[in-house]
Amino acid sequence: MEKHHKFSIWYVLLGVWVVLIIHNYLVAVLAVEVIPYSRFLHLVKQGKVAEVAIGTNQIQGRLVDGEKGGKGKLFRTVRVDPEISRLLDEYNVTFKGEVESTFLRDLFSWLFPIFLFVGVWYFFMKRMTGQQPGFMSLGKNKARIYMEDDLNVTFDDVAGVDEAKQELQEIVEFLKNPSRFTELGGKLPKGVLLVGPPGTGKTLLAKAVAGESGVPFFSMSGSEFVEMFVGLGAARVRDLFVQAKQKAPCIIFVDELDALGKARGFGTLGGHDEREQTLNQLLVEMDGFDPTVGVILMAATNRPEILDPALLRPGRFDRNILVDRPDKKGREAILRVHLKQIKTVKNLDVERIAAMTPGMVGADLANLVNEAALLAVRRRKKRVSMKEFEEAVERVMAGLEKKNRLINEKERRIVAYHEMGHALVALSLPGTDPVRKISIIPRGIAALGYTMQVPTEDRFLMHKTELENRIATLLGGRAAEEIVFHDISTGAHNDLAKATDIARSMVKEYGMSEKVGHVYFARERTSRFLDTGVQGAQEYSEATAELIDREVRRIIDAQYEKAKRLLEEKRDVLDRGAAVLLEKEKMEGEELLSLLESAGSSGPEAAGA
Ligand code: ADP
Ligand code: MG
Ligand code: ZN
Repeated sequence: MEKHHKFSIWYVLLGVWVVLIIHNYLVAVLAVEVIPYSRFLHLVKQGKVAEVAIGTNQIQGRLVDGEKGGKGKLFRTVRVDPEISRLLDEYNVTFKGEVESTFLRDLFSWLFPIFLFVGVWYFFMKRMTGQQPGFMSLGKNKARIYMEDDLNVTFDDVAGVDEAKQELQEIVEFLKNPSRFTELGGKLPKGVLLVGPPGTGKTLLAKAVAGESGVPFFSMSGSEFVEMFVGLGAARVRDLFVQAKQKAPCIIFVDELDALGKARGFGTLGGHDEREQTLNQLLVEMDGFDPTVGVILMAATNRPEILDPALLRPGRFDRNILVDRPDKKGREAILRVHLKQIKTVKNLDVERIAAMTPGMVGADLANLVNEAALLAVRRRKKRVSMKEFEEAVERVMAGLEKKNRLINEKERRIVAYHEMGHALVALSLPGTDPVRKISIIPRGIAALGYTMQVPTEDRFLMHKTELENRIATLLGGRAAEEIVFHDISTGAHNDLAKATDIARSMVKEYGMSEKVGHVYFARERTSRFLDTGVQGAQEYSEATAELIDREVRRIIDAQYEKAKRLLEEKRDVLDRGAAVLLEKEKMEGEELLSLLESAGSSGPEAAGA
């Protein structure tokens, strides 16, 4: 359950308001009117006073019952005449000698609303959290202990993330037998950070590690640490580690770690200090514990970029494991895991369902299977068939499209050709980094696909041809789009920016343009602090500026033509590669290479610069 009842200032204001309202009401009900002494005497003489209590300097009393049968009004007056008893006797007023204290009444009119408010708050807190909100237990940590019995998640329940599983296998081995590891002097990471988009199975993986190794699992979400009262978050962290060390070997899992590293919202009490204190405590504890005792700290986040860099330093979360969106094969595997829970027709084409669901993550697929099962129930079917799945895909997709993560078929084709364009140009030109992986699995909003090139060696010098080839590779995406669709898209703007950067540097910094010559022109802003904002503080003439622009343009144009020519020559490979990408969504570098070889043209060849 989500627990979003932070200690907001609004709760306090609401509380104060409610208390005031009730107090006012009680005061009105228990109203005691203060009247002048003369009026009091007058009332006595009129026979309207029923009874009084006389104090040393104050008289309280009640009037005779009203006409409408209501109880007589209460009043109070300051005693002026000490010899009043005779008068009272004369007019038949009951009287006694002690003043009735108003203290209790006042106290009551304040305490009652406060107790009422606290009571209501207590009641709701209990219902929301299912826990005692008592002040005594606030400092204790809420980390639940999952023993292996009630946590029977294993690696078999997590599919499509084989690389992550492989990396975690080592941790499982260690937790199963910590002493064997440490005897050999092996060193393990203290902290493992699972990074990936929401719903890819990070939480599930952490549980599976605990399940596989059969150790206690302490889990806590980052937002839980950020407590309502200052200092308690830090106390919780301390407590958590104390408990964990007692149960070693075990796993401490901090879900949504970014909640600790994220700036807190407006209107919350405690603010940054609280978060920082908690974070600091976490860092202190991480530095203080020795992984050889068998405590492994795991955490998950889908926003690693906003994490405090201190968390990622060596000795802390020093191992990052990427839990990425699944490709088609991965989705098929995940579907199979969840299909075990429901009854389906025998010849269900799981591969086809996987093909229909590009961009979906594990959580979406689990949801999809559930939707299909519900549809079948509604139709009173005994088994879930392809028809239900097709409908469920439509439903889930429609929901997801609103979250704008999925791309349509036409866009997928464009992205596939675009990425193939990069990859083919890179493979065909010497001096470009080898292509390791091509993917059209959408990730986030910006990147629709990517072509991963990994340098084979560290480079300190780059030749002119290499730079040109790099530009050509960057432009390969757009060139492919133009060749195939006779139209270009916005998907290349990042490529264009990079290509232009390189070309500009070639002209202005590296002296690689014959027309501009072997000169260096890049020093525009000598100092950021002295920059007065005056434009055009350049060290070259307007004419040179124009020449530079023209040269940049010439280099880009030439490389674009080169990329286009290359791709047109290899059009069949381009088509076949794009088809493979559309089918499998991912392609390894070797695959592409063999595709290229089978087309007759082998490996990198010297192309005219
Ligand atoms: P995350 O923590 O990455 O946001 P979760 O681990 O909470 O995602 O996943 C939510 C649910 O989605 C899981 O309980 C599981 O049912 C399903 N799921 C997600 N990823 C996978 C996966 N790789 N294999 C099987 N089921 C998955
Ligand atoms: Mg999670
Ligand atoms: Zn591109």
